Amino acid sequence: MSVEFTRVTKRFGDQTVLDGLDFSVKPGEHVTLIGPSGSGKTTILRMLMTLTKPDEGTITVDGEALFPAPERQVRTVRRKIGMVFQQFNLFPNMSVLRNLTEAPTTVLGLSKDEAEERARELLELVGLSDKCDARPSRLSGGQQQRVAIARALAMRPQVLLLDEVTSALDPELVAGVLDLLRDIARSTDITMLCVTHEMNFARDISDHVLMFDAGRIVESGPPEKIFNDPEEERTREFLGAVL
Ligand code: ADP
Repeated sequence: MSVEFTRVTKRFGDQTVLDGLDFSVKPGEHVTLIGPSGSGKTTILRMLMTLTKPDEGTITVDGEALFPAPERQVRTVRRKIGMVFQQFNLFPNMSVLRNLTEAPTTVLGLSKDEAEERARELLELVGLSDKCDARPSRLSGGQQQRVAIARALAMRPQVLLLDEVTSALDPELVAGVLDLLRDIARSTDITMLCVTHEMNFARDISDHVLMFDAGRIVESGPPEKIFNDPEEERTREFLGAVL
């Protein structure tokens, strides 16, 4: 499913966080957003989740407007998008299984049996079949993040947003989560937008990289180009600091 931002501007108070942003993502493409902290990357994902609205411009998903659009249409489009957050955001008072069945039953209207069958398949995919009945707080950070990924997939999203999903993890747990995401990127045709500080991961899974600075895209291109032979001084400087 395609995603398109046209002249999107976002302000918080008198700070312009995104300034007339234009970019598009093709169906099934994996796009990574890189750049210094505060450059507006998370705000882009949050706008796609309708957690915050642009001040100007248009956002479309699969050719349908997400902004500006009537509330009913926003709900329909929004349902096609899943997100995994840095801090997992699991429901703490529900079992792992129920974390995965809650939205599919209440939002998509699946029966309890259908939702549970799908949830068990996904828990197998993420290697946590034995944790169905556990509360999230009993799991490691890496396991919680894998549950959060399974929960996002349980809604059968056509667009998956990943916001620094390994930043809150202990270093030894990062690789497992990144390997899982690599598998998902390879084996599905989900469109992915990924904010990450893991440059090797970005290099591996991206079809296209967008380098941000101060609310603008300073450079974009395939990962080989951006990581090996960037055009812009700002990109070189940023990569020099993080690699
Ligand atoms: P990044 O993901 O690149 O680190 P963000 O999109 O999180 O950047 O933030 C971009 C800028 O917007 C930052 O200066 C941040 O402080 C500001 N910002 C983000 N969310 C809010 C908010 N809810 N209220 C005020 N300022 C915000």
